[in-house]
Amino acid sequence: AVPLVVAINTSMAARNGILVRDRIAMEEARNLDTIVFDKTGTLTEGEQGVVDAATTDGWDRDDVLALMAAAEGDSEHMIAAAIREAARERDLSVPGTRRFEALEGRGVRATVETELPAGTGESGTGRQGTTVYVGGPNLLRHLGVDLDATLAAFADEAGSRGQGVVYLVRENEAVGAVALADVIRDESREAIDALHAMGVEVAMLTGDSEDVARAVAETLGIDTYFAEVLPEDKDETIVELQEQDRLVAMVGDGVNDAPALTRADVGIAIGSGTDVAVESAGVVLVENDPRDVVSLVRLSRKSYRKMQ
Ligand code: ADP
Ligand code: MG
Repeated sequence: AVPLVVAINTSMAARNGILVRDRIAMEEARNLDTIVFDKTGTLTEGEQGVVDAATTDGWDRDDVLALMAAAEGDSEHMIAAAIREAARERDLSVPGTRRFEALEGRGVRATVETELPAGTGESGTGRQGTTVYVGGPNLLRHLGVDLDATLAAFADEAGSRGQGVVYLVRENEAVGAVALADVIRDESREAIDALHAMGVEVAMLTGDSEDVARAVAETLGIDTYFAEVLPEDKDETIVELQEQDRLVAMVGDGVNDAPALTRADVGIAIGSGTDVAVESAGVVLVENDPRDVVSLVRLSRKSYRKMQ
């Protein structure tokens, strides 16, 4: 028979968006001193957003963004979705295009049917359409396009913050750029602050670059992070922490998180994550809300006190 306290505890957990697959994990949660979060898809939305823009002299940021959104109209790339969303948020009118082409691993090319922005010195020629490219550093190399001082400085700064940069190229000249960053879940900050207040240390684990990891960790107030960790090494990081006599939880969503979820003292999967992650975890966050990790620890601590 299931002890009464545990039964109550499990149904309370369910009401808090927590699915308990392994009751031992729920009990262990009260003793956790370290919680490791996966970055992409767990602390972040797994999407990117446009966070900054720059142009060469004579070009307007909104005109650049509208042209980029136009060229990206038919692309399925995550970067294209972020650029279209940024144009939508700013209520820009996005011109039509023809002859769209995806340049695998580089960007896109399209002919934009619009009048060119004023101040480009070519009014009158724009109506026939103008061919533009949108893409990253690989595209610039491919086209043999150099950056002017403004865009070069913009790219350096964005790079040091771990952001990707995508350029608008017209007539073999880069005329504007946008910086893209991970979209951090609104709830992540709150979850981490609450865990700190409860005396739990928070770490982040990611395969992403050192620059990206540092930027996200700083934004969220996470003091320890492990960057550029290969999928097969994620569980090693958990073991290293356990060897420091810590009781460790891992929170993750991906296939590559599964070994770490299994290895952790408490494995916590994001409900919308992959089946493999969910099946490797003792606890599942049904609402995909990192704040439910806080509820989990709180509930576990509360029921422990009841049992004494
Ligand atoms: P990944 O899966 O690592 O993003 P891709 O091969 O899809 O790799 O793209 C590599 C790079 O090419 C991107 O980081 C970006 O700089 C550029 N790129 C690819 N597709 C697009 C696009 N639709 N719009 C802008 N840039 C793109
Ligand atoms: Mg992930």
